[in-house]
Amino acid sequence: MSDELKSLRFEVKRIKEEGGLAGAFELDAAPLVAQEAPGARPAGPVRLEAEFSLGGNRILLQAKLAGAWTLVCSRCLAEHRLGYACAIDETYPLTAEVVDIADDVRQAMLLEIPPRSLCRPDCKGLCPRCGQNLNAAPCGCKAEEPLPPEALKKLTIEKEINHAEP
Ligand SMILES: [Zn+2]
Ligand SMILES: [Zn+2]
Repeated sequence: MSDELKSLRFEVKRIKEEGGLAGAFELDAAPLVAQEAPGARPAGPVRLEAEFSLGGNRILLQAKLAGAWTLVCSRCLAEHRLGYACAIDETYPLTAEVVDIADDVRQAMLLEIPPRSLCRPDCKGLCPRCGQNLNAAPCGCKAEEPLPPEALKKLTIEKEINHAEP
């Protein structure tokens, strides 16, 4: 287990003894989400502020998470950075020996990956004919030139799907 993951485990005994626990951590998030986020990777460390308190027969965690993802643009495939800040509210049984918050931190991070992400709001994308990134420069393809066979196939399929709708 890496140090980052170890640092996300807290002894319940200690939380009980001290009547709570608070701390701020800087995590190398890559080991946490190595498998789970295709097309996205943590851009630098993630800052975690965690506060445990005792409530009834549960341990309450209130945490703040701040970091950034490196994502691939849905239109032009360029990598770009998207910052996020989110909160975790979770409870754990007081009967456990260790509170492991790695899964909660992982889930909170993954929820911050949008299904689609653009490198900029007006991203022009790639030319469907020659593949050139149109943000860099116009490619000179003419609109009346025939599309490559793959693009035509896609258009046909989309049409068929539209027609299938009653
Ligand atoms: Zn883009
Ligand atoms: Zn082109």
